[in-house]
Amino acid sequence: MVISYLGSLVQKLLRMKPKVVFVLGGPGAGKGTQCTNIVKKYGYTHISAGDLLRAERNKEGTQYGELIDIHIKEGKIVPVEITINLLKRAMDDTMAKDAAKNKFLIDGFPRNTNNLEGWNKFMDNDADVKFVLFFDCNNETCVERCLERGKGSGRTDDNVLSLQKRIQTYLQSTKPIIDLYAKEGKVRRVDGAKSVDEVFVEVQKIFDAENGIENV
Ligand code: UDP
Ligand code: MG
Repeated sequence: MVISYLGSLVQKLLRMKPKVVFVLGGPGAGKGTQCTNIVKKYGYTHISAGDLLRAERNKEGTQYGELIDIHIKEGKIVPVEITINLLKRAMDDTMAKDAAKNKFLIDGFPRNTNNLEGWNKFMDNDADVKFVLFFDCNNETCVERCLERGKGSGRTDDNVLSLQKRIQTYLQSTKPIIDLYAKEGKVRRVDGAKSVDEVFVEVQKIFDAENGIENV
């Protein structure tokens, strides 16, 4: 037992500290779409908090299935203890398979004060948050895109009623978190209302500039 403990400690020390970019913006602002582009070009691993929660909800016999289901439909934010465990496991699994894969896009988190406090409590020493990539997109465009996505996504929250609640949650709870990071100079803002290609041009400028700083 002591040996296995030491083994895991050594493994942890050898592993590089994860570098994290939080990806935030309203529902349908383009977070997931642009994350896919960033993964292809910059070799990050994309972790969507919403996708992890949906996968957990869909598991057989999971303890939190119903709670997650209700929160998602109501556009409310799941307690951080649940989300942080899923995020941590996803990062650990990635690095256990390949220790060099330590750059993560965490998409759709932190969404409120509870999320931020949970991150600071459980993860702050174990990961470096490089910056927040903020897709700034007007509510009308966000709703329009999600309704379009809803035709084929099968998501229980891409409907008018859930979207009103999600936009409300975004404005009341998530935007203030983005503003907090902005005060620390950590927000990189992109106009998310443009086309996918146009937005990605702006995204690349941000990542190229960040890489430039790191390579100095
Ligand atoms: N969600 C949550 N905590 C998170 C991320 C997502 O509770 O950290 C829930 C929340 O109910 C949210 C839903 O999952 O409205 C969908 O999130 P997702 O990021 O998939 O939506 P998107 O913003 O990409 O449309
Ligand atoms: Mg998404």
